[in-house]
Amino acid sequence: MTGPAYPTERCKSCPAQVIWATTERGKPMPVDAAPTSDGTVLLEQVGSRLVARVLPAHRAFGRKDLRKSHFASCPDAAKWRRR
Ligand SMILES: [Zn+2]
Repeated sequence: MTGPAYPTERCKSCPAQVIWATTERGKPMPVDAAPTSDGTVLLEQVGSRLVARVLPAHRAFGRKDLRKSHFASCPDAAKWRRR
């Protein structure tokens, strides 16, 4: 177990399961459902919001509970990032 389980849903562009969080500025941000050893995104529950915090590389190094932004890993991201 690598931390709390968050609700996931299917990405609208690809078959991946993602977790919808918001950035510290409140913008919606999809994050890969599964943590990965090269992830940099820390999910934190702040009140009713799930906040995705991108850690600098030196803080992310060696952790196994971080995820990747789905903006980076989605094969279709180039298409929907433009919106
Ligand atoms: Zn996707």
